Amino acid sequence: MKIAVFSAKRYDRDFLSAANAAQQHQLQFFEVALAPESATLAEGHEAVCVFVNDVVDAAMLEALKRGGTKLVCLRCTGFNNVDLAAAAKLGIKVVRVVDYSPYSVAEHAVALLLAINRSIHRAYNRTRDSNFSLDGLMGFDFHGKTAAVIGTGKIGRVFAKIMRGFGCNVIGYDKYPSPEFEALGAHYAEPGEIGASADIISLHCPLTPETYHIVNAESLSRLKRGALLVNTSRGGLVDAEAAIQALKSGQLGGLALDVYEQEAELFFRDLSSTIVTDDVLQRLMAFPNVIVTGHQAFFTREAISTICETTLQSASEFAEGKPLSNEIKLP
Ligand code: NAD
Repeated sequence: MKIAVFSAKRYDRDFLSAANAAQQHQLQFFEVALAPESATLAEGHEAVCVFVNDVVDAAMLEALKRGGTKLVCLRCTGFNNVDLAAAAKLGIKVVRVVDYSPYSVAEHAVALLLAINRSIHRAYNRTRDSNFSLDGLMGFDFHGKTAAVIGTGKIGRVFAKIMRGFGCNVIGYDKYPSPEFEALGAHYAEPGEIGASADIISLHCPLTPETYHIVNAESLSRLKRGALLVNTSRGGLVDAEAAIQALKSGQLGGLALDVYEQEAELFFRDLSSTIVTDDVLQRLMAFPNVIVTGHQAFFTREAISTICETTLQSASEFAEGKPLSNEIKLP
């Protein structure tokens, strides 16, 4: 099957090409994102393969349909960037990679938390400059503290398990509670209790209209003062301007972001020789107690291999007329 791969970085080419040895699809790689101006590149391809910031809205789906595309393969779990209703109406199937490595994302969330709590980013810079002073680097023990997980799905549960290993009391909130979360020795709590008792909060729910800006001025004001927040899920969960105010007042003790609401224009590219005009992100990065990574939580060898293999398996299922194991259906 002819597949147009958008937002293709070197690692996408390498891992998709390796996975394709077993599948024999015709892959055409495009470094550009799928956007109105690049949509014609998809013409004649039965499938497009896209990533987190490629916008696959109704207009794009119509353009893809005109060009002969029948399948959209997401190389990711979240599908907030796809208009599923429009796809269903046009008869375009959408597949994603549901289960690649929850460990990759959960471990990155923990890495960010440890770094922000113990100021590893600052210590790294200091010691390189022969500054061995400890002033301002004091953190707190995770042991005995309360860690909250918002969204106790695959990634949230791995995160919970790791935090249990630290000796944390783990609480969580999910629209659809699961016994597997409670089996970890964690328990569910209402948002009010989470705000009042959590020292650490990690976001692992999808971005939906319901979860958009779930972290906002009001919810931040209900947090335990000095709590640490980590978001490895989707940028739109956090109102970044409200987070800036909470950091300024000390209400938020630290913030670690792997995702950012306006990341589409910034992440996955080297902008080091340009002027970044996003004042909100620049303000965030000016805080000593904020760490930003550029949507890299998924970025492990194991995760990328599985993402690429699953994506091409889905394409093969489609080409062979088989049921699609990873199809995203309208709720
Ligand atoms: P999952 O579907 O296994 O878990 C999501 C959980 O969120 C589910 O338990 C669901 O019931 C819950 N949920 C849904 N709506 C909710 C709401 N309104 N409030 C609270 N909980 C709600 O998904 P997952 O594999 O654990 O992935 C979670 C998210 O992580 C994805 O949606 C994606 O946005 C993000 N992600 C980020 C990266 C990265 O590299 N940064 C990589 C993979 C996934």
